[in-house]
Amino acid sequence: MGDKPVTGDKPVTSEDHWRITVDATRCIGSGICAGTAPRHFALDGSVSVPLSGDPDEAALDAAESCPVEAIEVRDQSGRVLAPSL
Ligand code: SF4
Repeated sequence: MGDKPVTGDKPVTSEDHWRITVDATRCIGSGICAGTAPRHFALDGSVSVPLSGDPDEAALDAAESCPVEAIEVRDQSGRVLAPSL
């Protein structure tokens, strides 16, 4: 699977990548994630869409910064990396 954008809460996945999801029912379209991690998120209308599961600190920062905790980042084993509880 490549890095094609997906909509809603569908994950972006590949063997070496993290699993990044956006809960479209929670997202309020603030755009904070796209500003914090433009390689990982883009706004599609008023909903953020995950773009890439490449591991990096910006993806974690975006998940921590989302005001409604709509973003979840998991590693290859399924462990939640962000947001922290
Ligand atoms: S930061 Fe959260 S609420 Fe704002 S656009 Fe991104 S996912 Fe949606």
